[in-house]
Amino acid sequence: MDVVRHLPNQGWIEVIVGSMFSGKSEELIRRLRRAQIARQKVQIFKPAVDTRYAEDAIVSHSEMRIASRVVASSRTLLDLVEDDTEVVGIDEGQFFDQDLPAVVNELADRGKRVIVAGLDQDYLGKPFEPMPQLLAIAEYITKTLAICMVCGAPANRTYRKLKRGGRVVVGGADLYEARCRRCFELGRRVRSPAPQVTPGGTDAPSKPRPRVRRLKPRRRAARRLR
Ligand SMILES: [Zn+2]
Repeated sequence: MDVVRHLPNQGWIEVIVGSMFSGKSEELIRRLRRAQIARQKVQIFKPAVDTRYAEDAIVSHSEMRIASRVVASSRTLLDLVEDDTEVVGIDEGQFFDQDLPAVVNELADRGKRVIVAGLDQDYLGKPFEPMPQLLAIAEYITKTLAICMVCGAPANRTYRKLKRGGRVVVGGADLYEARCRRCFELGRRVRSPAPQVTPGGTDAPSKPRPRVRRLKPRRRAARRLR
């Protein structure tokens, strides 16, 4: 979906939602690029929690990238948007605080085109705030679908292979799979052995602990003889 400016100084909100691996960031980057090519002033933000690929860029799983600024809160984002900015891009909207919808509304009221991408559901398939609130106030909504990594059907859920951890565990294909409704439910019923998790860690891929193999005394003695 490509929106052109309706009226001078009239803002609006576009929301791009879907599961992981559905191309949300790519779609966001594509829209922002087009605006940049048209020489519109664009500012791009992402939350501090998402530092998977780069600190100063939004990077899609397919390595498309666009420069962005990391912000700690949606209020900080609001303070950083300059008066002459025409387009505001926000990635990983689900990792922002609950003030994001109000901030986005204010920016649209000021005449900005605001584009927010994010996960609409968490790893349990529950609406991931504040995305539902953003969907309610947006003028334009795009739902992107991935392909189920188990059966190949259209997928709109994000399955976490890890059985422990809270709502936010940042990871990529090592931790998550796009799944259709059916395979998502099947996966939740089958409990597979859980890998090691760093306690309290929400980012930093957990390092496997070196396995120390202790031989029984008798076998150790036997080995010494060899
Ligand atoms: Zn499936």
